[in-house]
Order: sequence, then C-alpha cells, then structure tokens
Amino acid sequence: MKRCIHDGIPTGSALHHRLQLPPDCKWCGEQETVLHLLFLCPFTRHIWFQCPLNFRSTWGTHTSFAQHWKATISQLKEIGSSSQDISLYCFTLWHIWKTRNNLIFREEEPTIEDTIRYIITDANEFEQSQIKHHSVPRRNQTFQSPQSTANIIPSGFMKLNYDAAVDIQKKRGFVGIIAKDDHSIQREKISAQFRFIWDPGILKMLALREAMNWAISQHWKKVIFEGDALQVSNIINSRQCSNAALQGICEDIWYLQNSFITTSIQYIPRTQNSEAHNWVQAVKHGIL
Ligand SMILES: [Zn+2]
Repeated sequence: MKRCIHDGIPTGSALHHRLQLPPDCKWCGEQETVLHLLFLCPFTRHIWFQCPLNFRSTWGTHTSFAQHWKATISQLKEIGSSSQDISLYCFTLWHIWKTRNNLIFREEEPTIEDTIRYIITDANEFEQSQIKHHSVPRRNQTFQSPQSTANIIPSGFMKLNYDAAVDIQKKRGFVGIIAKDDHSIQREKISAQFRFIWDPGILKMLALREAMNWAISQHWKKVIFEGDALQVSNIINSRQCSNAALQGICEDIWYLQNSFITTSIQYIPRTQNSEAHNWVQAVKHGIL
C-alpha cells in the first residue's frame, strides 16, 4: 500500500517509461496508470460496485492515489464505519492489483465474482484474526451474515429499499424498489429498466429517484429510503455533488424531497439490502 501512495506500483505506463513495454491496460486497452488500474478501469469499477462497500470508484476528482486513499479513509471514519469497512477497502485494492498481475504474468483470467469472493474471504479472515488477537468482546459479525437485528420502522413511516443491476452486454440497467410499512410488512415492489444506461453509480442514483417518484405517487409522506451505495446517501445528504453525470439526477432528488413531510436517506450495508438486491437481480434475469 505504501508503494502505491508514492505512485510506486509499476503499472503499465510507469513500466513503459522504464522498459518500453506497451502501456495498455490488460482489461480495457486504455493507458494504465495507478488510478486507472485501481479505480477507473471498467473492470475495476465493477469490482468496487459489486463488493460489499458498493463504491462508485470514479467518484470525486482525486488526482493521485494518496488523495483517494486519504479521502476514502476519512469518509469511512466520518460515517462511523467499522474497521471491517476499512479492511474491505484495503483488501479490494490488494485483490485488484493481484488479479491484474495474475492476468499479466500467469494469463489467468479471473471473473469479477471470483475477485469479490477473495476480497470478502480475506477481509473476513482478517477480522476474525483481529477478534482472536484482541480477545475482547465485540460484535461477532461477518460480511455475509444475515441481518440479526430487526430494522424497526417508526410508526407512520414507510421504508423503501432500492438497488440497481447492470447488464453490460446489452447496455442496460435495472432498478428495483421494495416498500414496507411500519409493521415491516412488504406492501409493494416496483422495477424499472433503463436502456443505454449501464453505469452502476448513475443507476443507483436513478433507483433513489424512482423510489421517490413512486412514494409521491402513493402519497406516502414520511419515508425512509435505504440503499447500499454509500456515496449516493453521502451526496444527497451533504447536498453537494461534484459529479457532472449525476448533477441533474441529484437536483431532481433534492427537489422531490420537498414533497414529503419527512425523508431520511440512509445507507445500509449490502448484506442488509438483500431483498431489494434479489428483487432487482430477478428483474434483470427475467425471473418474475
Ligand atoms: Zn482498463
């Protein structure tokens, strides 16, 4: 990680300067820089999106890895993330790097799913080893464990869980929303399809906007919107959007918020958003 901070990882473009090797990214053919490899490459972005952190990796305007690192760690701490999230962040970086090396040096072509499985396994193992090491009582929670505490919905509120899915080949995206009332009983669910939008970050933001439009049409006035994209919640709650592609959607959402008596835009870990996740996956795969 240290080497990375000082731009010391020998990525394609750095090697190209030293050895005159082709500087192309092995996944997409673009110029391979540290930022491209770890955050911007389409392959990498799908890993960030699908791993439990659900990061939109093109977020922000960081120009170096060090900047990205510092901003992300402080962002994670700000929202009170556990050490688990920070280790997930580190293992995601590590496995992207490892996957890239396996592809170049061993000609192994791992899938996104494989890579994510390694990330989760390593992060879980690391957390378990920390627990043993400190031997202090703490929450024994793994990333894949089902939700153990009931999520109580305040009286008079509706809770809408949203999620998105992409079909890169067919260049389209899906959003799915599930509504529950204050007895935690599922009331209804909807889905929508977007042709020619397959950017995960944009789709998650669109999912929130669809959820809001739906809630307005149902005359639900006190609504909790829950999604597992950390940055969607952060941007909407901070009322600051520095991403041009999302600006318009954000402004819609901020405007729509005026139609409610109360709204709360909440982030939940992916494991707790499984109903919305499974629903949108079913829509994507046509299992309805
Ligand atoms: Zn690439």
